[in-house]
Amino acid sequence: MAIIRYTTLSFQEIQDHLLVTLLNLFSTRIPLAELHAIAPCHLVDAHTLRFDTLSQEKAETKFSYLLAKYLDHLKTTLTGNKATYIHRHSDIPLIGNVAFGIVYRDSSIVEIKTNNACNLDCVYCSISEGLSSTKNDFVIEKDYLVEELQDLLEFIGEPVEVHIGVQGEPFLYADMENLIADLQIMKQVHTISIDTNGTLLSKDKIIRLAKNTKLQFNLSLDAIDEQTAKNIAGVKNYNVNHVKEIIAFASEKMERRPIVAPVLTLGFNEHEIENIIQWVTTLKKQPIVGIQNFLRYKTGRNPAKEITWDKFYALIATLEKRYNIKLRLQKEDFNIHDTKPLPKPFVIGDRITATIMAVDRFPKSVLAVADNRTISVPGVEFKKGKQISIEILRDKHNIFVGKLLK
Ligand code: SF4
Repeated sequence: MAIIRYTTLSFQEIQDHLLVTLLNLFSTRIPLAELHAIAPCHLVDAHTLRFDTLSQEKAETKFSYLLAKYLDHLKTTLTGNKATYIHRHSDIPLIGNVAFGIVYRDSSIVEIKTNNACNLDCVYCSISEGLSSTKNDFVIEKDYLVEELQDLLEFIGEPVEVHIGVQGEPFLYADMENLIADLQIMKQVHTISIDTNGTLLSKDKIIRLAKNTKLQFNLSLDAIDEQTAKNIAGVKNYNVNHVKEIIAFASEKMERRPIVAPVLTLGFNEHEIENIIQWVTTLKKQPIVGIQNFLRYKTGRNPAKEITWDKFYALIATLEKRYNIKLRLQKEDFNIHDTKPLPKPFVIGDRITATIMAVDRFPKSVLAVADNRTISVPGVEFKKGKQISIEILRDKHNIFVGKLLK
């Protein structure tokens, strides 16, 4: 008899298939006929399968094979978008792409990106993420990410901030609390910062997270008025009062003061910025306020015109004076400095051979792999395992884009 148990996967028999859910947010279906073709199988509990007639080794090998086949059909449950699970045995490196894994810009802030997908649909989202997104998503195995990060930190050789800057909402990632706990005990990590919309945080979760003394929240708050906040978040059930409660509670409980980061978006919340500052000044323990200027991006939703930087800074200066509060956060506030540059295995103009391993974020774009890096290659049909010849078009910060060579 064999027992197979997973902590990150859960199982449910529905009609003629086994629904497999990964990290609460991604799912795929294995036809029961294929499962029972391995051997008679029983669901012991939501995380455990039992094969009565197989040895442990045989059951693990056969089930892993079947699982891998159907993980290729993984979807994000919030949107139905295709998702790729990147794990230790996926042969997909974590450096090379801005949307997932590890982004190291040769500075003392190392970005890590665990997942895509978001439960909001903000009007100003610079990456058009959220419930209306049709992009492909990625999700990374926590231990793989931690191991690769550890290797990079050893290379950097000095203390760094690790910034969890997901293209999406990080608390949708079911392993986030475990990941933060792992980062907390890394000696080389002096700060763990995380961008979150705050909607999935609760007081209980904050009490648990407060044990991580290096953790600093960057929380979104774009309006005090409930309807304006809903309009900006792009979803009817957005509850700004919950987010305010979370900000106030986190400001009291966390070792590091949270940063509240409203995005000033013309036509949406210019009249709300003062309300946000006034509300913050009423709190017993105040978060830091860092107002951001809305910027248009090629990949963003772009619902408004930009305010010129002169006008923006003049407004910030006026508000700083009026409320006797610091509102303009600069590079120096984050103690960022240059660190050891990571060598690039290839540079712009190089012609290389790479293997297609996954679909990329955008349609008709693939992720190819060579020399422990991923390379985005647009305009290529996805065919897993196919070798292609490409010319490197972008290499900045070890983020690679290539062009297919005929
Ligand atoms: S919360 Fe962030 S990722 Fe989600 S839609 Fe809003 S801006 Fe985009």
